[in-house]
Amino acid sequence: MQETSKRHLCKGKTIGFVPTMGALHEGHLSLIKRSRSENDIVVVSIFVNPLQFGYGEDFDKYPRAVEDDLEKLRASDADILFVPEDKNLYPDGFASRLTVEGISDRLCGAFRPGHFTGVVTVVCKLFNIVKPTRAYFGQKDFQQTVVINRLAEDLNMDIEIITCPTLRENDGLAMSTRNAYLSAGERAAATVLYKALSHASQMINSGSYGPEEVKNKLTALLRAEALVSDIQYAGIYDPKTLIELDQFKQQNLVAAAIKIGGTRLIDNVLAVFHT
Ligand code: AMP
Repeated sequence: MQETSKRHLCKGKTIGFVPTMGALHEGHLSLIKRSRSENDIVVVSIFVNPLQFGYGEDFDKYPRAVEDDLEKLRASDADILFVPEDKNLYPDGFASRLTVEGISDRLCGAFRPGHFTGVVTVVCKLFNIVKPTRAYFGQKDFQQTVVINRLAEDLNMDIEIITCPTLRENDGLAMSTRNAYLSAGERAAATVLYKALSHASQMINSGSYGPEEVKNKLTALLRAEALVSDIQYAGIYDPKTLIELDQFKQQNLVAAAIKIGGTRLIDNVLAVFHT
């Protein structure tokens, strides 16, 4: 992969990179499409990164569907699929970890210790291998985009980090590989997440409510769904620092992580507050 990238870069070609964990859906394909429109060469990687899964999380049961993915990629206009193996990325003796401090500990990081260290370490490795001009990430994983932007800036990586909009099912549920874990009843209940976030966003837009009122309503809407078994966080945050807001900014991150049965779902929307 490194040799291939060097060859393309030597010829003055730009490389767009879409890192994924596979089991591809329309959300992933939208990133590939964007990358296709902005670069000469499009590289997609599939790697279920053991380093970013905590003890007791779903690493073993995470869907793996390489044959299906190949079909989708053939139809997608991507040029190169990179599928590294665990033992090649993490050979015996591998001892390095990269951490983006502060922002990695908030929101999802508070409930998934070590997760963002795993993400940042693998993303840095993949960047060094693929050598992209631009790399594409989904807003669905908002905190991830904040952490990766920080990483690229702090370490002077000469890579443009591009955040793409969240693709949703017709009923609003953000597309996610983990939606496959939901039973039919849970799948119907899962629509509560985007509905509640959208409602909170509208409350912010209206200018008639304060952050506490919005947060309370958001939490109440999520609680009202009987199949929501846990609300890990739900609130309004500064989109840059991810710190919870007690006063609205112009741009506000409305985000939540919930569990429906045993499945953890996250989603977010950005809400404008008109002063
Ligand atoms: P994953 O395979 O879940 O690690 O996701 C790979 C990339 O696709 C990440 O940058 C995600 O943020 C992005 N992604 C996942 N779901 C969506 C979605 N529904 N819309 C847009 N991007 C997404």
